[in-house]
Amino acid sequence: MTTGTVVIVGGGQAGAWAARSLRDLGHAGPIVMVSEERHAPYERPPLSKEILLGTGSADELTIHSHEELAALHIDVRPGVRCTSLDREGRRVILEGGEQLVYDTLILATGGRARRLDLPGVDSPRVHTLRTLDDAHRLRAALTGEPGHVLVVGGGWIGLEVAASARALGAEVTVLEAADRLCARSVAPDVSAALLDLHREQGVSVRLETSLTALQDQDDRLRVTLSDGTQLECQHLIMAAGLVANDELAVQAGLQCANGVLVDRQCRSSDPHIYAAGDVAVMETSLAGTRMRLESWQNAQDQGMAVAQAIMGQDVDYCPVPMVWSQQYDQFIQISGHVHAGDQWTERRTSTGILRFYLDATGTVVAAIGMNAGRDFRFARQLVERKARVPAAVLADPGQPLNKVASTAITA
Ligand SMILES: Cc1cc2nc3c(=O)[nH]c(=O)nc-3n(C[C@H](O)[C@H](O)[C@H](O)COP(=O)(O)OP(=O)(O)OC[C@H]3O[C@@H](n4cnc5c(N)ncnc54)[C@H](O)[C@@H]3O)c2cc1C
Repeated sequence: MTTGTVVIVGGGQAGAWAARSLRDLGHAGPIVMVSEERHAPYERPPLSKEILLGTGSADELTIHSHEELAALHIDVRPGVRCTSLDREGRRVILEGGEQLVYDTLILATGGRARRLDLPGVDSPRVHTLRTLDDAHRLRAALTGEPGHVLVVGGGWIGLEVAASARALGAEVTVLEAADRLCARSVAPDVSAALLDLHREQGVSVRLETSLTALQDQDDRLRVTLSDGTQLECQHLIMAAGLVANDELAVQAGLQCANGVLVDRQCRSSDPHIYAAGDVAVMETSLAGTRMRLESWQNAQDQGMAVAQAIMGQDVDYCPVPMVWSQQYDQFIQISGHVHAGDQWTERRTSTGILRFYLDATGTVVAAIGMNAGRDFRFARQLVERKARVPAAVLADPGQPLNKVASTAITA
């Protein structure tokens, strides 16, 4: 049992799971959660899907309500921003001047949508999508006046917003500066499949094109693209990536590299400070790399791992990346490091497709499922266990994947 005061900065998914897990594991001391947002901790994946489409409600996203947190004796400070850290005095300073003394601090501050530095980006017709309030504003804009919607960024969030905007009746253009979609997380063949999917749905996708200027003309935006094209649109959505909210850590002198560097116990360069979720830079299953994982799975797992580490458990957090996306009728799941693959092979499942990526030693380093159904679970097990399976076996639908997973040679 531990009894010190734990302060958590950030009341999102990682912060909520850390707080909850500390209590579940028997932490008896005070827990204070400082949260800039007014809402109880909630899950963000539905923001670009069910919330934009109007098929889900805010209540369904809530991880732990304020009442549930109060019942666990977790002191939540909603709508309050932490402005600085005093590591020597082990205090966090809140806006308004209140100071909280901690024995252990967890930074779970997540990230914010990157905004392009262009004149005109403050127009109410320019949106980003990170919070529930953003999603409500964007839905009101899209349902009030769908018109032409320009999405800047062809990553997962941009593509999900494009799919939802199409479903709401908007004409949609996606700009992507790279030469393919989702280039950071998938191989070229999957980028090509995503491009086909969106073009089939009537989205105009312009690759190797960026936004160079925009002008608010009251009832529309006039934009100029890098190839000189001029377009008009009713709404523009910036989906150009995430900026880690690591300023508190940087100012306090913690080791950071586009996020807070943590070890396998989720501990920062200060032994009294941990970090979890989108703001943390960690080792992952791909040896020799450190990265941030912007995913639901990591936010939950690392939130729990931080609590275990604080409770003195033997934690070795070095996750296999896992992310999913929903676009139109396609449910896409990715496990592992696609870029570590030297070759890939494909299996048709009863509902869709599974692609396996193997490195030079024949180890399964990643899997991508597109409407792959329950078979993805076994593909994920093969990745997590670093299994060695001949490509021909992976591709053969006659070999049940649950059996392949249970009998595979693992590292
Ligand atoms: C639109 C959208 C769709 C997504 N879809 C998927 C998906 O399909 N699949 C998937 O795997 N992942 C998805 N994600 C990613 C996933 O939601 C995130 O990885 C996860 O929310 C990260 O949790 P977190 O707790 O680290 O950060 P957050 O959930 O961002 O929480 C951080 C909290 O800290 C607060 N905060 C920051 N600074 C301070 C401060 N100084 N003081 C007080 N509070 C502060 C913030 O306001 C925020 O409330 C999606 C994300 C978005 C935005």
